[in-house]
Amino acid sequence: MNSLNPNVTAADAAEKQKVWEADRDHFMHPWTDFSTFKETGSMVFTAADGVSIEDADGKRYLDGIGGLWCVNIGYGRKEIAEAVADQICAIPYFSTFGHHTTPPAAKLAAKLADLAPGDLNHVFYGCGGSVANDTAVRLIHFYFNQLGKPTKKQIISRIDGYHGSTYMAMSITGVQFDHIGFDIDEKLVHHISCPNPYRRNPDLSEEEFCRQKVDELEQKILEIGPDNVAAFFAEPIMGAGGVIVPPKGYHQATLEVCRKYDVLYVSDEVVTAFGRLGHMFASQDEFGIVPDIITCAKGLTSGYLPLGATIFSDRIYEVISKPQADGAIFTHGFTYSGHPVSCAAGLKNIEILEREGVCDHVKDVGAYFEQRIRELGELELVGDVRGRKFMMCLENVADKRTKALLDPKAKVGNRIADACQKRGLIVRPLAHMNILSPPLILTREHVDFIAETLRESILEVTETLR
Ligand code: PLP
Repeated sequence: MNSLNPNVTAADAAEKQKVWEADRDHFMHPWTDFSTFKETGSMVFTAADGVSIEDADGKRYLDGIGGLWCVNIGYGRKEIAEAVADQICAIPYFSTFGHHTTPPAAKLAAKLADLAPGDLNHVFYGCGGSVANDTAVRLIHFYFNQLGKPTKKQIISRIDGYHGSTYMAMSITGVQFDHIGFDIDEKLVHHISCPNPYRRNPDLSEEEFCRQKVDELEQKILEIGPDNVAAFFAEPIMGAGGVIVPPKGYHQATLEVCRKYDVLYVSDEVVTAFGRLGHMFASQDEFGIVPDIITCAKGLTSGYLPLGATIFSDRIYEVISKPQADGAIFTHGFTYSGHPVSCAAGLKNIEILEREGVCDHVKDVGAYFEQRIRELGELELVGDVRGRKFMMCLENVADKRTKALLDPKAKVGNRIADACQKRGLIVRPLAHMNILSPPLILTREHVDFIAETLRESILEVTETLR
């Protein structure tokens, strides 16, 4: 990494400056602190290949975050470019409203039905994860209306769960920082506590802690009234909330509670699907549950084009496909639902994941990655290392013994990320934490580079805190 490209010319530098200014002055970025943005602007990335990205100065970085938990097959896949170009030439777009389709949309739906667990055989497309979750809510409301249970509407989710940025998905999101300065739909959504084993009461065993969290869900359902609760939303491993792996048996036990009260279980696999944990879907293969609905996006196309999907069960389909009130139809959908070009990218992406045995690779090299990152837990600053395979988080703390939090003003996560960047590695800062979600094609050499770079960077930042 970290090498300067000798082919960068003066004309490139002028173009870079133009792009940088246009971006700073006109592109309103997502999730951005505009007070600092106005001064620093953006890093401009102009090329990518394999697991590396290159900035406009020609400096290369190993992408330790896979774009944003999504570039699962890595960059520069010509096959995807060709599949996309072929589809654009054949038919770039046609509405899928009503009784129209295109081959990629139909074939990808069948492929997802085949890969998804249990009887999750029906696919509704959107453009990303937030919309997949919004769709799940509308679908669930429609389902209970159709069943003649119109009061069953309330949604339960967890503190520190992340489900997206549209109004409904952000209301379901439980990361409290994300709600500051905005409003959410508090009439419809209820948050229960986060099953974070690191922050549990030390007097509780993991089993007792699990029971406590599951009981909390049941109590919340009883408090709202089972006739009013429609669904429980949960990520198999919470991603943006800090890669929180719940205690053993949590998902199975929460699913049982949901079944007891006829509450639908929505597994948000926007991050965990398509190989990140070594399976096409993690719900069943990693956590032993078959939910009612799986939402996915990101790794579905490895980020090459926007696409999301809400995959749901035969049971739901049977109910929503029954005739409704006179003349009424399922009035939900988007211009780009089932976009043929995105679906062509998705099909090719899954073909590559399967053909190259990426899930097996993740089971092997991802396990090595997990081991190397866990070794960083011995460092003074690192309170917890958690996650599985290619989904990891380092929680930095002021005091390892008491688990005391660092002063947020110290911006330790950002400083570690900056120190890594200087050394040619991109990691994601998240408050006092650092997140890793690299492309899934990482080699052992890449893993060693990430582990060693992180170690040096954390040690460097630790020194500055003394
Ligand atoms: N759900 C989870 C678990 C996510 O991590 C994200 C995004 O990071 C979303 C939903 C929202 O997806 P999108 O940004 O594609 O709308």
